[in-house]
Amino acid sequence: MTERLSDTPAGVARAVALLVAGELVAFGTETVYGLGADATNIKAVGRVFEAKGRPHFNPLICHYPDAAAAFADVEASDLARALATAFWPGPLTLVLRRRVTCKVALLAGAGLDTLAVRVTAHPTAQALLRAAGRAIAAPSANRSGQVSPTTAAHVLDGLDGRIAAVLDSGACRVGVESTVLDLSEARPFLLRPGGATREAIEAVVGPVGRGLTPAAAEVTRSLRSPGLLVSHYAPNLPVRLNACDVGRDEALLAFGAPLSGAGAIYQLSASRDLAEAASRLFEGLRSLDRENFRGIAAMAIPQAGLGAAINDRLERASAPR
Ligand code: AMP
Ligand code: MG
Repeated sequence: MTERLSDTPAGVARAVALLVAGELVAFGTETVYGLGADATNIKAVGRVFEAKGRPHFNPLICHYPDAAAAFADVEASDLARALATAFWPGPLTLVLRRRVTCKVALLAGAGLDTLAVRVTAHPTAQALLRAAGRAIAAPSANRSGQVSPTTAAHVLDGLDGRIAAVLDSGACRVGVESTVLDLSEARPFLLRPGGATREAIEAVVGPVGRGLTPAAAEVTRSLRSPGLLVSHYAPNLPVRLNACDVGRDEALLAFGAPLSGAGAIYQLSASRDLAEAASRLFEGLRSLDRENFRGIAAMAIPQAGLGAAINDRLERASAPR
């Protein structure tokens, strides 16, 4: 029922025609697969919440082919322009105030007076956005609360029959979602660690505010970014963090030399490379999420750089449901 479109000019043209007609089309970006909808069409935006089972208080990120298109919809401060120059196209989402002329449906931003905007570096997604000629709302293309998809097959696992098409552009290079940075208040605030590291952002704008742990930051986050819930990105099996040992009845998410004794092993990165680990994280959680295990044991990952995004997702995956 869901069309599988190839990464060709004809595939992109079909995807754009469906989007413009108000249908949902999932497409690959450098971070994860997004579930695209015409952000200016309130019916199409409504379908996104329906297909994902996403609560209406959780706003969507809007995608644009370039910074000029993005900043036509939101008010860009000097800081926003500096970050756009440094990071776009790339895995950084900026939360800024909507302009009065912004045509994006209020529902896409969950009724907030801010809007999250992003310019992806993926060439196929760029071609699609340029041809669509309007903002495309695209949250991660998974059922709400589940693990984000990094391949077209992952998208179909959760959404087959619920969306018009998926544009298959292969596996996602970065593998964790974009960093979400709130620039709508006086001081930049890191709402979600992601593909652009805090260290790299701070090199451009100086210190950014951020929460300590997902639990400690929950109150602030739920006020400033409704939808960044503690339990999220969750496989069916319970996840145990910072494992120093592992049982036969557990599956091991390994980072570096694996602990011995596991019933199954998924290696994130034998050489302890954080970029490689990020790109393999969601595939690993999905492939270990099998009924014959009691749980998933995850080895410790350093908190620096992309490790912050990986640990954020793992903490949410392990949070009580
Ligand atoms: P996803 O689309 O699944 O990658 O999730 C996007 C995240 O960005 C959501 O969890 C939101 O909480 C956050 N977000 C989107 N728009 C806004 C906004 N206007 N203000 C604050 N956070 C936002
Ligand atoms: Mg998501």
